[in-house]
Amino acid sequence: MTRKLGSGKLVIATHNAGKLKEISALLAPFGLQCISAGSLGLPEPAETGTTFIANALIKARAAAEASGLPALADDSGLSVAALGERPGVYTADWAERQWFEGEPGRDWYMAMGKVEGLLQAKGADTPRNAWFSCVLALAWPDGAHAVYEGRVDGTLTWPPRGAMGFGYDPVFVPTGSVQTFAEIAPEDKHAISHRADAFAKLKAEQFGI
Ligand code: IMP
Repeated sequence: MTRKLGSGKLVIATHNAGKLKEISALLAPFGLQCISAGSLGLPEPAETGTTFIANALIKARAAAEASGLPALADDSGLSVAALGERPGVYTADWAERQWFEGEPGRDWYMAMGKVEGLLQAKGADTPRNAWFSCVLALAWPDGAHAVYEGRVDGTLTWPPRGAMGFGYDPVFVPTGSVQTFAEIAPEDKHAISHRADAFAKLKAEQFGI
């Protein structure tokens, strides 16, 4: 049977302030006190897995073992059917720019262009379907764990459109919409996103709602 969280402290295994805020707000109604891995000084483990599940578990287990508390981690990315599900776990890496005015940085326009270039190289008839995945992993210090997978399907458009959102949002048109994720109001995106799907599954199993 899946271990249940109950109330108390939960380490959020992210060093991203935006994610911590979003996840804390989602879990606040359940009496959980969310603490960031960063504030506890926990190191960020290398994401050496080849699946979203493996990477989410690496992060959650590392935080649970180091803190002695239950921990939640997420991993997400974009998979393109015609590209053998790439970039997948390497979604953020495809945006990595080694030297951007002397500093490492991420260039999302470059990353979207790389995906588009590979699709166009496959021919005009190449299917453009893609999906965002989000895996949430819970881990306890004794090794117990639980995993929740969320997904939103859509198609890729070019050129990018819209100024909201982040990452690959300007080229992703969710199924049933004509707008990209970057043209949809954040609250509407959050209602249908891969993260919402994964959180709904976590909340259903962990809190029965
Ligand atoms: P990670 O989950 O922090 O490893 O990030 C994976 C990458 O996937 C992010 O850097 C984004 O580029 C991309 N990604 C994940 N979710 C979304 C989304 O909702 N919109 C656009 N890009 C996303």
